[in-house]
Amino acid sequence: MALLAGLTGGMGSGKTTVGNLFKSLGAHVLDADEICRFLVEPGKPAWQEIIDLFGNEILKEDQTLDRRKIADVVFSNPEKKKAIEAILHPRVMEEEQKRYKDILNDEPGALVIIDAALLIESENYRKVDKVIVVACDEGTQLHRIMAKNAFSREDAHRRMQQQMPLEEKIKFADYVIHNDSDLSELKKRVEALFHQLKQLAV
Ligand code: ATP
Repeated sequence: MALLAGLTGGMGSGKTTVGNLFKSLGAHVLDADEICRFLVEPGKPAWQEIIDLFGNEILKEDQTLDRRKIADVVFSNPEKKKAIEAILHPRVMEEEQKRYKDILNDEPGALVIIDAALLIESENYRKVDKVIVVACDEGTQLHRIMAKNAFSREDAHRRMQQQMPLEEKIKFADYVIHNDSDLSELKKRVEALFHQLKQLAV
């Protein structure tokens, strides 16, 4: 038996870092954002549907989608936000399931982890065996977002406000990794969880 887990948490909480630690221990990690970019490559069905929804003005010169322009539109248009999510979220899960099956063909007891910022909001948490939420306190999160993206305190704060609150995400979690200490502590916590999950996957 294999195991498919979803890894999520607030912006800057440490999802990528945790995902990389899982990878170094031997888990397979699928990046939902990378899959999303793959699904909207020029010519693909989702790319066409998104153009139909937003018009040609959201295309860059090289025919790829201008993610910044789309983000600007959906920020003030909840209907369009819903519509683009309906195009993307089911397809992302479908592709993740496909990649999961491909991994299982080679490694039947694999532990596969999906790194997905919107795992819960997209409802895709329903399609995984376990949900892992990376949590840290708001002050730490704010500093990490500012440092990683070179955002001002106000910008970082505004982005945090736009997201589903951490307490809400934690309600969906089978496991919470607290990432308030240093990286060596985080590594120990990820290792402990890795061994727990590995046992479920055999
Ligand atoms: P995003 O939502 O932007 O994708 P994320 O949740 O994937 O962020 P990371 O990129 O893993 O978060 O972490 C955010 C920043 O905080 C990174 O610069 C990372 O190196 C740093 N970081 C994460 N965990 C720790 C830690 N325990 N100690 C110190 N720095 C950390």
